[in-house]
Amino acid sequence: MLQRVAVVGAGAAGLCAARHILSRSGRFAPPVVFELSENVGGTWCYDERVGKLDNGLPVHSSMYRDLRTNLPKEVMMFPDFPFEPQLSSFLPHQEVQRYLERYCQSHGIQPHIRFNTVVESVKPVNVTTEGEVEERTAWEVTSSDSSGHQKTETFDSVFVCSGHYSDPHIPLIPGIENFKGKVLHSHSYRFAEPFAGQSVVVLGAKASGLDISLELANVGAQVTLSHRRPRITFPLPDGIQQSSSVEAVEDNGRIRFQDGSVTEADVLMFCTGYNFRFPFLDAAQLGLDIQDQMMSPLYRFLVPPAFPSLFFVGICKIICPFPNFNCQVQFALAVLEGSVTLPSRVQMEEEVRRELQEKLERGVQHRHLLILDQDQWEYCNTLARTAGFPLLPTVIRSLYEEVWRQRQIHPKNYRKLNYRLISDLEWELIN
Ligand code: FAD
Repeated sequence: MLQRVAVVGAGAAGLCAARHILSRSGRFAPPVVFELSENVGGTWCYDERVGKLDNGLPVHSSMYRDLRTNLPKEVMMFPDFPFEPQLSSFLPHQEVQRYLERYCQSHGIQPHIRFNTVVESVKPVNVTTEGEVEERTAWEVTSSDSSGHQKTETFDSVFVCSGHYSDPHIPLIPGIENFKGKVLHSHSYRFAEPFAGQSVVVLGAKASGLDISLELANVGAQVTLSHRRPRITFPLPDGIQQSSSVEAVEDNGRIRFQDGSVTEADVLMFCTGYNFRFPFLDAAQLGLDIQDQMMSPLYRFLVPPAFPSLFFVGICKIICPFPNFNCQVQFALAVLEGSVTLPSRVQMEEEVRRELQEKLERGVQHRHLLILDQDQWEYCNTLARTAGFPLLPTVIRSLYEEVWRQRQIHPKNYRKLNYRLISDLEWELIN
């Protein structure tokens, strides 16, 4: 019998899952992809609205109007589906959205997506199918469409591809209620013009914090970039000054930093990342501990040891997302097909525990345990070797590392460079 798979979300991860399921039609029925919005693309589907939509759901995408990718298209692409060759390396978000729409169309995914349909619950149930002796786990997926019609269906496995850049993480700041200006999170930032001439304290100097600071400075805002990372050493434009992290807001509304300095500001902008949020899952029932910025145990950052037919695609951070999803999905399908046998539940739990412990001992903070960064290559290749699909071409790593280096030196201009892949091993700078 063909296996039935539910996919939650039609962003890059969900489309990738659907594409590979469809290509294994001998083992799997066409997937059912649930998508709460009316579009594919998830994060890449720019929405100028902020806050709650008419249907009561919060806006999903955190995309801002002028965002250009921070990875070149040569590295960002699904390895088996290039971007159009005439495009520059660093793309405006609209081009990534077009790419995902093209991916969806080329692989015939669209007919399998139920748009405007929210997954409300995903629950494990024990079933015995005719001819089977032992009970096995199946999944009851309850969804509701735009007319409020609710439906519960049973699947053999579920791919959770609902993204994790939607639910703003806002750290506790003592006295924040005293702040008299505007407070917002980068999730609700769309463009810089409304901030022209204002003083803005940006909290956090990772990709979004730095990018948004540059956009704000460009329209003449006075930016204080507050962060706890080592001092940024590359030249920042006039209009951006660095400071230590925010300690508190004083009674008079002024912001106090860790080094004791204080400032007044019109805007406090949190670029402090996002929380994991899976309102359709009962974490305790699944044996999972889901905290703001961490979830565990997930064997190979993918599968809860207690329920090896549930897969979380794309939860790692600081990665090449699309190539990573492509590896995770193929590994997961190899597990479902039986060509990869997972270790026992106890062994998987022990391996996850040991890996996390090693990272903590190396000084990695708890909230950073899902960052792969330099480990991403070995991670993807281990999945590929185990499941027998092609390794990521070495050129992806070398170009990724080059771009990372350029980003540190020229944060404002690195996106002007254009690259070309020559082979699986070599790239060249074309201008
Ligand atoms: P998403 O794109 O978030 O898709 C999840 C989908 O699930 C959405 O369509 C959502 O509507 C749907 N969904 C959620 N809950 C439900 C539910 N209950 N029922 C039904 N549907 C549901 N990556 C890069 O490679 N390069 C970049 O330059 C880059 N820049 C980024 C900039 C920003 C501002 C952000 C936020 C992210 C950026 N990323 C970048 C990372 C990006 O998130 C990933 O590339 C990728 O798009 C994530 O895809 P996803 O499918 O995991 O999640």
